[in-house]
Amino acid sequence: MSTTVKSMLDIKGRDVVTVGPDLSLHDVARILNERKIGAVVVTGMEERIAGIFTERDLVRAIATGGAEVLGQPVRASMTTSVQRCREDQTVDELMGMMSAGRFRHVPVERDGRLSGIISIGDVVKSRIREVELEAEQMKAYIAS
Ligand code: AMP
Repeated sequence: MSTTVKSMLDIKGRDVVTVGPDLSLHDVARILNERKIGAVVVTGMEERIAGIFTERDLVRAIATGGAEVLGQPVRASMTTSVQRCREDQTVDELMGMMSAGRFRHVPVERDGRLSGIISIGDVVKSRIREVELEAEQMKAYIAS
């Protein structure tokens, strides 16, 4: 059975780096660099998800608008149609979402509020754990 998002978050934690929509791209770039992450969730009123902004969006903004875009607010370059998931969904479902939508981050919501984020790195780690566990069970079965 595939691991659930809830059990992944129980292991990795539920902290999500969020920023407000008016923060400049330069400040967001500093946060991505300092926190060693690839994405921030942009939140509006009551911690609701307003958008997502990743290192890919930063590259696109600079490539199309030049370095002066760094002074612009993140809301001008974020993705607003954010695909999210619930904690009862599985890693397999997230892999499907990521590969169909060609993105590497999925915010998690509980009761309409942000409750975590899963990156492609978390998915890979979880898949490796599942495969190792299956191999151990197989060995134990063969030995018994
Ligand atoms: P990523 O691969 O996560 O760096 O994102 C690639 C592109 O997809 C960027 O334009 C992101 O803003 C966008 N993106 C990232 N995550 C999501 C998501 N969960 N839903 C919709 N778009 C996303």
